[in-house]
Amino acid sequence: MAPRPILLIDDDRLQHQLVKKIISRFRTGPWEFDGALDFSAGLKKLVSGRHAVCLLDYRLGKDDGLELLRAARVAGCTVPVVVLTADDSVEVEDAAMEAGAMDFLVKREIDGRVLERSIRYARKLGETLERLNQLATRDGLTGLLNRREFERILEEEWQRSVRFERPFTLLLVDIDHFKQVNDTHGHQVGDEVLRHVASLLAGQLRSVDRVARYGGEEFAVIMVESGCGAAMERLQRICALLEDMPCVVGEKELVVTVTLSAGVAEMNASLPNAAHLITLADKALYAAKDAGRNRIVAAQHGRRASS
Ligand code: GH3
Ligand code: MG
Ligand code: MG
Repeated sequence: MAPRPILLIDDDRLQHQLVKKIISRFRTGPWEFDGALDFSAGLKKLVSGRHAVCLLDYRLGKDDGLELLRAARVAGCTVPVVVLTADDSVEVEDAAMEAGAMDFLVKREIDGRVLERSIRYARKLGETLERLNQLATRDGLTGLLNRREFERILEEEWQRSVRFERPFTLLLVDIDHFKQVNDTHGHQVGDEVLRHVASLLAGQLRSVDRVARYGGEEFAVIMVESGCGAAMERLQRICALLEDMPCVVGEKELVVTVTLSAGVAEMNASLPNAAHLITLADKALYAAKDAGRNRIVAAQHGRRASS
């Protein structure tokens, strides 16, 4: 695979020539060079995520390089960034690190060795942070969001929904009689079934929706810009798909069929908080179990309707 390019965002064309020349002489590599001369072109390239590392000018013409960096981080960009400045100042260095830079270099001190070393360290640190972030936010078995991260996102979604008066729906989905799967086929097959259901859920949802492993065999989903009815319909389709595509373990030898029960609660600004939405969905999930499983139940402000 071709190495990913190094991106330089700097309004000074001479700096581009200089950096290009320096990286062509790196001991590692060969490295490809890519450049942007202003804020918007730079931000667009940086958030594309296709660069190994970004060298970012602190004073980007009339714009602020750190503002660009913050915007990229908010957009979810994890490309490691090294900030380049003309002057050596502890305040600027602190501000750069605070904005999410991996390192900070003073332009006049840059030579081949310094730059190559900084890039190497920035990439290593970036990888480590990425791995730590995965560990902190993802479930190890299924790769879905973990419960803590889901609850953080739910809180964010709640705030967004209140502020912009946009709907969203929370779904709690639980595999029926899952203990029997473990008891009959063993824990490893149980794990396969969990991964199967997880990948079906993740694969069938839109990229804007969020899905987490909420507990052992329980999943939580946020469907944004969706009311209760639309969310139920979509989950119904996923349940039908699960029926058509059961989990096949080990070269078609064992087919494990499971069904799902779910409780669904639509966000409503009259509710006190996001935790209350979870309580409502949870109650509806219990109702689905009570009513015989393999079904989706909606909870709305204490009123319940069955699908
Ligand atoms: P219900 O229809 O009422 O939900 O019944 P259930 O059997 O699915 O629910 P119960 O809560 O009785 O059992 C859940 C089981 O899920 C028990 C637990 O051993 C299993 N489980 C939880 N986490 C994992 C896991 O990571 N892997 C496997 N294989 N099993 C798990
Ligand atoms: Mg269960
Ligand atoms: Mg359960």
